[in-house]
Amino acid sequence: MANAPVQRMSQLMAKTLRDDPADAEVLSHKLLVRAGYVRRTAAGIWSWLPLGMKVLSNVERIVREEMDAIGAQQVSLPALLPREPYEATGRWDEYGQELFRLKDRKGGDYLLGPTHEEIFTLLVKDQCTSYKDLPVILYQIQSKFRDEARPRAGILRGREFLMKDSYSFDLEDEGLAKSYALHRQAYQNIFDRLGLDYRICAATAGAMGGSKSEEFLAPAEAGEDLFADCPNCDFAANTEAIAYELKPVDGSAVPAAEEIPTPDTPTIETLAAHLGVPASATLKNLLVKVDGEIIAVGVPGDREVDMDKVEAHFAPAAVELVTAEDFVGRPDLVRGYVGPQGLGEKVTYIADPRVAPGTAWITGANKEHTHAKNVVAGRDFEVDAYVDVVVVQEGDPCPKCGTGLKLDRAIEIGHIFQLGRKYADALKLDVLGQNGKPVRVTMGSYGVGVSRAVAAIAEQTADEHGLCWPKEVAPADVHVVAAGKALQTELALDVAEKLAAAGVRVLVDDRAGVSPGVKFTDAELIGVPQILVAGRRSGEGVLELKDRRTGEREELSVEEAIARLT
Ligand code: ATP
Ligand code: MG
Ligand code: MG
Ligand code: MG
Repeated sequence: MANAPVQRMSQLMAKTLRDDPADAEVLSHKLLVRAGYVRRTAAGIWSWLPLGMKVLSNVERIVREEMDAIGAQQVSLPALLPREPYEATGRWDEYGQELFRLKDRKGGDYLLGPTHEEIFTLLVKDQCTSYKDLPVILYQIQSKFRDEARPRAGILRGREFLMKDSYSFDLEDEGLAKSYALHRQAYQNIFDRLGLDYRICAATAGAMGGSKSEEFLAPAEAGEDLFADCPNCDFAANTEAIAYELKPVDGSAVPAAEEIPTPDTPTIETLAAHLGVPASATLKNLLVKVDGEIIAVGVPGDREVDMDKVEAHFAPAAVELVTAEDFVGRPDLVRGYVGPQGLGEKVTYIADPRVAPGTAWITGANKEHTHAKNVVAGRDFEVDAYVDVVVVQEGDPCPKCGTGLKLDRAIEIGHIFQLGRKYADALKLDVLGQNGKPVRVTMGSYGVGVSRAVAAIAEQTADEHGLCWPKEVAPADVHVVAAGKALQTELALDVAEKLAAAGVRVLVDDRAGVSPGVKFTDAELIGVPQILVAGRRSGEGVLELKDRRTGEREELSVEEAIARLT
């Protein structure tokens, strides 16, 4: 590969900012904007500037290398998609408000792909006809579109974002298990190389369907997932998934909504007792009826919480409207709160430890994030039925070893699913088997948040001075700073050229009329791992090398510096 040319700050389109952008709430958002990596174009829609593009491309390259290594083949499918396949699988409706739907000039329905199971299934149906054509793993790295209810966290939650999505197609369950295991290992390689700290957690398959699913969660304050971590064994699970671990104690399946009789005075306690789970349970996905009319539901296709009806029904004193912001930084309130998840919004019913037992919050993650507060189940509404249950509190016993669980926030950076035959059934994907009879194909789908990973790395590695990239993703290996006038600039450019000739990726701050102090601050903010300064002792050919992470400094001759950095 040809050596990259020296990147001069004097020519680089990257304006650093002293102040945090007014709308920024999370660290990665603040720093990526301030350091000139990204610009906001609209809510949840971002432009990547040259420095950001370098980091994004590095993440993309690592993902591509690890996908290629498991034999996955890269393709590129459109983002603008026809309605029909999504209609066939039911997702045109099930996806709810998160799906960007649009019409063409003839009135035909289209969508912007939020994930591509349908289209890949059809591609394989078209291309693979015999058992000899399988197994196959296909992937793409492409913009995805989701009309997220809360695009507040900068690059972490875009409405347009970059995802690596891959899909495996196998004849038998064992084949699927193998494709899944390959992805699981590839994801570990990817996230290790990205320098991320992460846990692999059992997750619900949710509306994606299918059996087994695991999430890769990167612990961070800014994360919107709450996960339970056992300090004693390897158990880690999304709080949602624990419902499946602990659900009805006799091991029976959760009954369908209609089959659950309504307790006389439904409270969290009676409902919990009914399901055989602890009273600390967070009961999710309730159907809440007021005067016989459903006002809050958590079942696919019908997720709206009609706040007018809630307000009309409850005495004003009993209802206080709060916004999702009330949850931020209040782990005591968010126990069990699970944000808007995958496919559409959910209603979550949360026991609030500060108020009388049985008092609940109804949190409807609908577009406006209005929630009814201090509403008492049984007194204020009739709880009709529920479809699943989440049970977690800090200190609850680990399902594996009994040790008290820790609850932590994390960013979902990847997700792997064994889908099974859901999509193949809906779209009739068969290949001819060895015996000449058609065999229904079994599938997996696997996602890495490529743009989200950039922000997740920023969240985990930044310090009080700014970004601090791990080597493999950094926009350059060395940031050479000309801290002075002509002499320093000449030396800085000379060293930069020599480093570049040796294959080192170099950013050089050769800006005229910018003080050394500003250049140092910018270098720290931009976060390249090594900072090489041509300063006071440039006349003697002495440079200062600073490690961005540790802050350690060392004086070196030009030759020593080059030897050290190549
Ligand atoms: P979340 O729970 O954060 O909404 P998800 O479960 O809906 O994510 P998946 O459908 O599992 O997401 O998509 C695969 C991966 O794509 C996720 O693990 C995440 O890394 C990334 N991703 C999902 N939504 C976004 C988004 N709005 N912005 C950036 N990355 C995203
Ligand atoms: Mg999720
Ligand atoms: Mg989602
Ligand atoms: Mg997911």
